[in-house]
Amino acid sequence: MPLHLAHLRQSDPQTLMRLLDCSRDLVAVFDHDDRLEAANLAYCRSFCCDLETRPFWHDTMRANYFSNCGPVIESDDIEEWLLQARARRGKVSHRSFEAEMHGNKWILVTETVAPDGRMLFYGTDITAVRTSNRILRQKLGAAQRAAATDPLTGVPNRRYVMDQLEAWHEAQVTAAEFGEHSLAVVDLDNFKKLNDTYGHSIGDEVLRLFSRQAVNGARLTDLFGRIGGEEFLFFFPNCSVEVAQFRISTLQSMALSFGAGRKAVTITCTFSGGVVRVRADQDIHDAIRAADKLLYHAKNMGRARVIINGP
Ligand code: GH3
Ligand code: MG
Ligand code: MG
Repeated sequence: MPLHLAHLRQSDPQTLMRLLDCSRDLVAVFDHDDRLEAANLAYCRSFCCDLETRPFWHDTMRANYFSNCGPVIESDDIEEWLLQARARRGKVSHRSFEAEMHGNKWILVTETVAPDGRMLFYGTDITAVRTSNRILRQKLGAAQRAAATDPLTGVPNRRYVMDQLEAWHEAQVTAAEFGEHSLAVVDLDNFKKLNDTYGHSIGDEVLRLFSRQAVNGARLTDLFGRIGGEEFLFFFPNCSVEVAQFRISTLQSMALSFGAGRKAVTITCTFSGGVVRVRADQDIHDAIRAADKLLYHAKNMGRARVIINGP
């Protein structure tokens, strides 16, 4: 791909960087693990962060929340807010939205995700412009997010996951190179028994715990969502099936403790799953069906395993 800014870099490699550092616009780059890789002065000032420490995005947001700087976060549970935000962040190649900042400021944010999984953040002060209908636009955004979110776990629901996958596949098929991408379907084991033994609310807690751990272990561009009762989908762009299998397996045997004293109980819950490679010439729904078939084999093989090949 030609670099359109290349001649600027050739004339003076520092020019663009100096201009960005002078700019009042907020500019930052995040790596595929969602750590701050580069940022201009305006960004570091607005988000009260130190570039030298290469903070994770979620750590910066959490610190901002508690010190009342950076963006205004309307939530009384920052961890829940972060879970939902991370489950959706970096999943589309381009998105823009308005964000309120402390100090009665508003910025228009544009996030662009490169094929290598890095994200460019660009924020422009729009405090004085586009003021009409701003609240309405915020409400519309919140309603759209709610319609795409599973209310129990806070992660994307089936509809959102399917829409994103279809859009991603359509965009990729026309790209020059398709690359290696993996998709997995996972189902918690013996969940009916778990509900029957410990109660439905403990079952709900296990679903929440699994979702939280999956989002915490995800890279910026990984997609994860709840597609059925105790069934989840993982999508790992630019990732082999072997690595995908390993990454999902690290979530295996989660333990949930509840109760206190002599009534304290710790339960473990396993899951089964199937991982397939997504192909350019294959419908994305066929890939999901293939992963489902492997999941079925994993159950028959004794559960508590994630497989990449059938028997
Ligand atoms: P397998 O290992 O074969 O998957 O067995 P299983 O018991 O997990 O599968 P089965 O399909 O028989 O039962 C799924 C159970 O998941 C039954 C249903 O009540 C429970 N479930 C589905 N959604 C929820 C939910 O939102 N909360 C709770 N607590 N349970 C749920
Ligand atoms: Mg199950
Ligand atoms: Mg099931």
